[in-house]
Amino acid sequence: MAENRGWDEFDAGAILFTFNEKVDNIATTLAEDRPYSSSSSFTASVGDWRIEKPIFNKDYCIDCQFCWIYCPDVSIIARDKKMIGIDFDHCKGCGICVEVCPTNPKSLLMFGEHLDDDECLASWPEKDEKEV
Ligand code: SF4
Ligand code: SF4
Repeated sequence: MAENRGWDEFDAGAILFTFNEKVDNIATTLAEDRPYSSSSSFTASVGDWRIEKPIFNKDYCIDCQFCWIYCPDVSIIARDKKMIGIDFDHCKGCGICVEVCPTNPKSLLMFGEHLDDDECLASWPEKDEKEV
């Protein structure tokens, strides 16, 4: 399929292939190197209904990979088992990555989509001290 189509422009029963060609070693091929077809959701920016965005603060991250495992949109970018950022073309702003992040303070927090990233990082909360 060469052209992009909307979801309601396909014939009923159409088969949509994820890739344009066979991919060997999919597990070791980075997403940006895979031959995604134009009907794959990977090729479209589908994060435009997000009203809040996760901001990543690497100062607190322990690279546990929980966010990568639990993100329902495969929008956490990790390389060599290290969290390096968020794919905002696909992130829907669900906040699950923030919920599962175990650090104190969290290494991911949700902020309004319109806010400046540097300002979000500057307003990061302090560590919560345990009451004794
Ligand atoms: S907000 Fe949701 S979709 Fe976006 S990176 Fe976090 S878990 Fe993934
Ligand atoms: S869940 Fe939090 S600590 Fe773990 S890799 Fe993700 S951002 Fe880092």
